[in-house]
Amino acid sequence: MSQIRSIRQAPQANPERVPREGLRSTTARSPPLTTAGPLLGAFYFLVTGAAAALAYGRRQQPSISSLETVMTMGDQPAIALATMTGEVAITKDEVKDETAKRLAKFDELWQKQQAEYAARSLPIEVTLPDGGVLNANSWVTTPMDIAAGISKGLAKKAIVAKVDGELWDMTRPLEASCSLEILDYEDPEAKEVFQHSSAHVLGYAMEDHLGCLLTTGPPLEDGTFFYEADCLSDTVSKSNYQPLEAACKKLTSSGAAYQRLNVDKEDAIEMFAYNPYKANILRNKVPDGGQCTIYRCGEFVDPCRGPHIPSVASIKALAVTKNSSSYWQGKADQQTLQRVYGVAFPQAKLLKEWKVNMEKAEANDHRNVGKQQGLWMFHQAAPGAAFFHPRGARIYNGLVEFIRKQYRTRGFEEVITPNLFNSSLWKQSGHWENYKDDMFTLEVEEELHSLKPMNCPSHMLMFGSQRRSYRELPMRFADFGVLHRNELSGSLTGLTRVRRFQQDDAHIFIRRDQIKDEIASQLEFLAYCYEVFGFKYYLNLSTRNPDKWLGDLAVWNDAEARLADAMNNFCNLPAEFETLTGETLKYDGTPAVIKQLKLAVAKGKYPEPKQYWLLNPEDAAFYGPKIDIQLEDTMKRRHQCGTVQLDFNLPERFKLTYQMSPEEKTALEAEGLGGGVDGVEDYARPVVVHRAILGSVERMIAVLTEHWEGKWPLWISPRQVMVIPLAHEFDEYALEVKSKLHAAGYYVDADIGNDQFKKKVRNAQLEQYNFILVCGEQERSNGTVNIRTRAQKQLGEKPVGEVITWLDEIRDSYSREY
Ligand SMILES: [Zn+2]
Ligand SMILES: [Zn+2]
Repeated sequence: MSQIRSIRQAPQANPERVPREGLRSTTARSPPLTTAGPLLGAFYFLVTGAAAALAYGRRQQPSISSLETVMTMGDQPAIALATMTGEVAITKDEVKDETAKRLAKFDELWQKQQAEYAARSLPIEVTLPDGGVLNANSWVTTPMDIAAGISKGLAKKAIVAKVDGELWDMTRPLEASCSLEILDYEDPEAKEVFQHSSAHVLGYAMEDHLGCLLTTGPPLEDGTFFYEADCLSDTVSKSNYQPLEAACKKLTSSGAAYQRLNVDKEDAIEMFAYNPYKANILRNKVPDGGQCTIYRCGEFVDPCRGPHIPSVASIKALAVTKNSSSYWQGKADQQTLQRVYGVAFPQAKLLKEWKVNMEKAEANDHRNVGKQQGLWMFHQAAPGAAFFHPRGARIYNGLVEFIRKQYRTRGFEEVITPNLFNSSLWKQSGHWENYKDDMFTLEVEEELHSLKPMNCPSHMLMFGSQRRSYRELPMRFADFGVLHRNELSGSLTGLTRVRRFQQDDAHIFIRRDQIKDEIASQLEFLAYCYEVFGFKYYLNLSTRNPDKWLGDLAVWNDAEARLADAMNNFCNLPAEFETLTGETLKYDGTPAVIKQLKLAVAKGKYPEPKQYWLLNPEDAAFYGPKIDIQLEDTMKRRHQCGTVQLDFNLPERFKLTYQMSPEEKTALEAEGLGGGVDGVEDYARPVVVHRAILGSVERMIAVLTEHWEGKWPLWISPRQVMVIPLAHEFDEYALEVKSKLHAAGYYVDADIGNDQFKKKVRNAQLEQYNFILVCGEQERSNGTVNIRTRAQKQLGEKPVGEVITWLDEIRDSYSREY
């Protein structure tokens, strides 16, 4: 699968989202690129003035995993924060005094702002999603006023507004004529605003209960958030959780509103002068002479870019989930800080559900299940490389066989390629230049070689080894080859982050006019597999980054349009549709267009699509657009495993060509792209598709272990059948049944040990045997067995021959019922 840019990423597809503990993801959320959403948690600023667009334009918004990244984002030179070693000279009482002063200053400026806004007011028009236009007053009317005017229900459910496509506080006055949308909690962007707003509540509780100096409080990828603070030589422990939650409750039950204040840099610094962390960020982040925003909620005041929920009243459940220590800027020579993590919901039952899912995830952590079931092990002799025990190997091979079987019917040919390559190959493919540190290298006859981190270059060599004709395309090379990537030993985690792995990797060589059909059929393949596994999945289209791409613009645009077409077909989405106001729109995966189509679907104008794919604008690798697929497991966690990625670069680097059909030649000439390649007139470059469904087999086993809670469906189960005699006199018959099932291809055992019958059944259930076949006098004389499932269901007596046919049906239909 992966290509140059993703060499660092696999087996995970996105390094920002690498789960460190089991499969739980705790890294900071990466930014939604389509909006100026709340990215930096309780610490990011709306900067006004000329520098704003440049330094904080949406392309520059960072994926925040540490303050350090925040500080180096944008086009501005990185500004280092002051180091924070040693104790900060302030007492807890002084912190209390300072927060009171801060509040007074806020109120003073707030009164001033409100008077200024009122004086500036002019009549404006606000356009609603259904096309309706309302009259309002700039700097006075808020989205909340408008929502309340439409219906009480709408106002009550409103989390955040969108003004001309920009996220906007419900309580922030509109500034000019605009379009207005109101989002409720169901909207993913609103969910993130809710989560981010909840971090402020936790920040308040920490100041209140711990008397600390807050630093930053970002939302996290997994829906939780943390707030980090200097606790002035104290540390946080579990005993603080309950008082922290009580302090949160004190604020949320007050129903306080979030108030947004625009302030000059100097005023902001004055308000936070006592807190060296916040003051430092303000000093460095806000341009001189510029402004930033500061929010108040109850007695809590915090510089933040916003937006936020209208008030804390909608936070109905908030739990402190864990704590950890950290360093200022993530650097070990800096001040030690404390992080408190939390999670919040608008309904108490959602928190309960979340807790149940977390407990499940803990209990099903693949590392524990792998041990309990004796599936695999690690050894210091080979860090990051799993040893699969026999039963683990059954699962591993089961997954590979599952994909291999599909290859036969889907036109793939399997190839087998070397592991060790002369570095000249990586120089040709472009990997050497930037990624050689991620490869294991060794010298062979005085030349540098490396273990392959991916299969792509091998397949390029194989395609290029012969003259190819358009008649041979699409040509699909599949490879389960062993890959190695030099992950840091400290980052290795179970099967999710390993150094040695295999992929269900494939490279498909196609003509440009085959993009749509090929992608559609790969999506169908992927959907088939994920449905067998019982995953939900979501599709995103990543398009050209105008600052980082190579090739021909017309080819890119054409390829992106074909990918969108294929996704529309796959999702059953109309390429074009008419909005309720009669406007014709093209489906492009942007939130605004999705909203319009949803309205039209709700009115019955279009059928409900399979899903609405999302646009990930300007997020493609430099070598081609791609479709990212996120799967969702039973604990509602998302993982990126599969990929469908176009590549215009490798065919160029390896000078791959095929002889064009006469029609294709004419068509290319008409586009002005005729003339052949490499000086040969009738030849063209193929497009390469990198494609994987499982991604890393190792990582998929981790995901499936947790997703299925260690209860493998029959088709992939390492323990399919246990035969148990009622007493020793039936041992022989039990062994006979066992050998029949073994001959029929099942992983079957017979328990003829000395345990009591009941104990044997219990053991087999705990070991997750899918079926338990019981044999006694009646069964022996009838040539039957009595069937029980691991879920303790008794399915009655069946002749052994019939049992085998019945099992075959369950196995071959990939049923998840047993
Ligand atoms: Zn590849
Ligand atoms: Zn905030």
